[in-house]
Formats: sequence, C-alpha cells, structure tokens
Amino acid sequence: MTTPHTGPALDALQGLSVGDALGAQFFVPATARTHFAAGTTPPGPWPWTDDTEMACSVYAAHTERGALDVFDLTHAFARRHDFDRGYGPSANRLLRLVREGGDARELAAGLFDGRGSYGNGAAMRVAPLGAAYAADPVEAVRPAVETALITHTHPQAVDGAVAVAVAAAFAVRARTTRMTPEGFLAEVRRLTPSGAVRDGLGEAIALLAEPGHERAARVLGNGSRTSAADTVPYALWCAARRLTDYPAAVREAVAAGGDMDTVAAITGGVVAARTGTAGIPAAWLAAREPLPAWAFPEPGGVPDGRGGADLLVPRPHPVPDVVWTDAQWQALRTGVLPDRRWRARTREGVLRLCRADGHPVWELAVAPGRAGWRPVSAVVETCPHRAPGLRDGEDAGLLARLLGAAAPGGGTAGP
Ligand SMILES: [Mg+2]
Repeated sequence: MTTPHTGPALDALQGLSVGDALGAQFFVPATARTHFAAGTTPPGPWPWTDDTEMACSVYAAHTERGALDVFDLTHAFARRHDFDRGYGPSANRLLRLVREGGDARELAAGLFDGRGSYGNGAAMRVAPLGAAYAADPVEAVRPAVETALITHTHPQAVDGAVAVAVAAAFAVRARTTRMTPEGFLAEVRRLTPSGAVRDGLGEAIALLAEPGHERAARVLGNGSRTSAADTVPYALWCAARRLTDYPAAVREAVAAGGDMDTVAAITGGVVAARTGTAGIPAAWLAAREPLPAWAFPEPGGVPDGRGGADLLVPRPHPVPDVVWTDAQWQALRTGVLPDRRWRARTREGVLRLCRADGHPVWELAVAPGRAGWRPVSAVVETCPHRAPGLRDGEDAGLLARLLGAAAPGGGTAGP
C-alpha cells in the first residue's frame, strides 16, 4: 500500500521547486524581457534545477526514516546527481568522486584550499527539512547543520542552512500563531550563529519597511556571488514581507536578478511552509516539471536503526565477500531479508543483522565503490545470552548465506 504524501515538508518542497523552476526561466534574456516588467510568467514546462534535485533527496531521506541519516543522504545526493541540472563545478566534481567511492567528508573539507565551500547550496535544499520541525524550531538546527556539512563545511554556508531551516519551521508555526515580518526574522536571527548570515538578517530586519526590493537587494545581495551570505538574507527578507502571499514573494525574489533560481527556491520553500501547497498558483504548479517519483518513498519504509539494542560483547569477525548492486542495497535498507527469521537495520552506513527478538548479532560497516556496495568490516555478538547457539566456524557460514541471499544474481558470497 502506498501512503499519500501530505504535510508541511511536502508543501515546502512544492514551494521550493516551483520557485527554483520559475527563477531559472528568467536566465533566458527574451523571457526576462517579455515577462519581468509585465508581471507575467512564461509558458511551461519549467525544468527544475540542482536546488530541487537535492531538496527532493533531503525530503525523501527524511520521509523514509522519519529521521536524518547522513550516510544515506550523502549517497542519495551522489547517486541522483545529474550533471545537466546546473550544479556548480565543485559540487559536480565532489558528487562524482563520492559516487566513485571517495570519502565525502574529506572531499567537502578539502574544497577551496581547505576552507570549504561557503556557497548557497546547503541553504537552497533545506526548507523541507526545516518544515518538519515546526513543533520546536530549535530541533531543526542540528539536522540542518548535518545536511549542510555533507557538501559545505565553511561556517557561512552552514549558518545559511540553519537560517533557512528554522525559517521554514517558524513559517509553519505562523499558520496558527500570528507573526509580524519583524518577529519572524528576529526569531530566525536568534537561532542563527553569529557571522555574516546573522549580520545580514539584522540588516534585513532594518530594511523591512522599504517600498521595493532595490535597496534591500543592493545591501543584502541577490545571490550573484552564490554565497550563503549574499543569498539567504535577501531570500528571507522576501519571505518575511510576503509570508502569506506565495506568488508575490517569489516574484520579489526573482526581481532582484542574481542567483534567481536559488533565491526563489529559498523564498518559495519558506513561504509555502506557511501557505501550504494551496497557496501556490495552480498554473505555476502545472508549469513546473513534475517532481521525480523517487522523491516520494513510502513514509517510514526504512526502519531507523536508532534506539535498537547494542551488541554486548562485539568481537571482530571475518568480512564476508559479497557485493550488492545499488538496487540490492536499497532493498536491504528496507529491512527485509529473504530469511524471515532475520531483520536488517541500517544506521549511518552500518548494517545490523538482528534476530526476530530485535537483538543484533552482526554489525557490518558498508561502503560504496565502483563495483557496488560491500561490507568493509564486521563484528559479531559473543555474549552467550544474546547470541545462543552460534558456534565457532558456523556463524561465518550463516552470515555469508544471509548476505548472499540478499544479493540474488548480483552478489557473490564467499565460502
Ligand atoms: Mg539551481
């Protein structure tokens, strides 16, 4: 049975993707000339860009587990990376190398001579995640930081993601709690660490009474440097002023030029968290290229490994010689093993094989490579109370059978 997707995180994703797709249209000079001044929109379809591709991964990863798993999200970014969606050069290279087995953390930290990227790419994809934390916006901070660090380790980029995530959370709260534009931005600024993004939010508050966008865009930036600090304050200034009017907010986001798809993606994601999908013009939703089917996994379809019992007496175990295709690894993540007496649980790249009573017997660290997914280290439970009946030599064969059976046709199980 497929559970329908609803809720504020989906609203934010819809708003983000429509803003992204519409904003990207205005990079075509003839489109901008015809439609900017007239206040009209070009005919569809409007293809979405990297902002939406990554936001779909964030939404899907959070939805399938109900929690964030950085390992899963890192490899989802890499697996779905489509070179033709307008990623920046460093993101293109990083995601390609991760796909080929590179260490994402090391690669991200090494960008820009070791300073890390301070681009707006972490902020542009995070609104759907933030919208899921409306009950307590402070709770959005940590997952926002974790999603940012996958590709952006510079503090400004991380702060930009924090600001957008908590903005989306407060926008959902504004459905039921009255919030002025000043109050909204002040709450976002309060949870944003000190630095250039927070300073920009302070300036944005001071500029809220401006009649038009010109001075705000001049002071705050319009994303033309594609940094978080010159993108997020202006995008949130647009959102704060028009939190109940999606089309007006997105038009203002695009009107300043600069990185129009990303500014409009941020503004649109936050405002739709307040208005719901119903606030997005139906014609705009219809013009936007449809979102990919993979963005909508079964909610809770991947059992989250958090909170399960730990191994009591873990001992090193021979690493089984098995390789899974991506489809086999994705199937394993759903927890089902061909031998129904066993369950799989994954968390941050560690596969646990658990008995029906839930207790784990093996833990294997899994890593991707050119050939596929494979275990790279293994431990076994040796507490007799937790793992009765496993005798030396027998457990290795059982593990190989379990894992080999999870890879029919593609994997190779060792002896
Ligand atoms: Mg883009």
